[in-house]
Amino acid sequence: MILNVRKIPIISLQSFIFGAVMLSAKDQLLILISTPIYMIIIGIEVFISNAKSRASYTVKDTLQNLYLNILNASLDLGFRAIYVGVILTFFYNHRFTNSIPIPWVYWVVLILFEDFMYYWLHRVDHHVRFFWATHVTHHSSDKFNFTVGIRSSVMEPLYRFIYFIPLALVGFTPIDIAFAYSATQTWGILVHTERINKLGWLEYFLVTPSHHRVHHGSNPRYLDKNLGMFLIIWDKWFGTFQPELPATEYQPIKYGLTKPIGRETPVTLVFHEWDNMRKDLKKKHLTLKDRWNYLFGPPGWSHDGSRFTSEQLRKMENENKQ
Ligand SMILES: [Zn+2]
Ligand SMILES: [Zn+2]
Repeated sequence: MILNVRKIPIISLQSFIFGAVMLSAKDQLLILISTPIYMIIIGIEVFISNAKSRASYTVKDTLQNLYLNILNASLDLGFRAIYVGVILTFFYNHRFTNSIPIPWVYWVVLILFEDFMYYWLHRVDHHVRFFWATHVTHHSSDKFNFTVGIRSSVMEPLYRFIYFIPLALVGFTPIDIAFAYSATQTWGILVHTERINKLGWLEYFLVTPSHHRVHHGSNPRYLDKNLGMFLIIWDKWFGTFQPELPATEYQPIKYGLTKPIGRETPVTLVFHEWDNMRKDLKKKHLTLKDRWNYLFGPPGWSHDGSRFTSEQLRKMENENKQ
């Protein structure tokens, strides 16, 4: 069932149930197809990593990934009625242009535009601590396997839609925008594996497992690189591309955070960076600019040099090499 967004009521009493209704037929089909595919490839990956005695999976890490996914999916579904049915619909109803009349052109442009906006969302997530505090959950596993792909940034549904407002303003329907995001996200999940090497000519324009391994690396050279979800061209154009380097050129990838989160509980897994921000803001003798930087500066920024940003870590690594 595809809803006519113009008929969506402004106020919803049962937003969670309504959120589920907001899943278009395309969304439902995508879930129906992708879920068994995930199950099969996860099974194969577990089997191969066990056979090769590689510790790609642990029960604890897998359960954490599942837990974070369920939290994120619940929040997304509960809030969907608001961000699809109300906010994006408002902008769609005040759009500047009519939608593209040729269906395949409409969908190609929508996927490209959505992926482009996601790149900027992801870039801001990595460069502004306030948003990193949400996105960090996706990066806090020291493993890299298909289930890390569903280790979601729990709170992201609360602000992701902001980046999609321009799409609604140029005539893409909110329900199609939400589907385009889900479709590119399906690819984004599938690139979380160590079992696939480089993919030849696909490496030129698609985000591949090799590109995304770099994205999850905490090695200074790999921090905040390869931010695309579906296409890697955005990283290549906007200066955040970093190929995976062979052992002869650089150290092996160390997955996870530069500073592990410490005690892992269901609460700290989601909120540890918020708690760190709170502690930083309580420090004595901070200027207004220090406080701003602790909230909106790059992750790792510190007023006393006790921690380091990605750029500082990279600089230190380069200086040590010389
Ligand atoms: Zn990221
Ligand atoms: Zn990832």
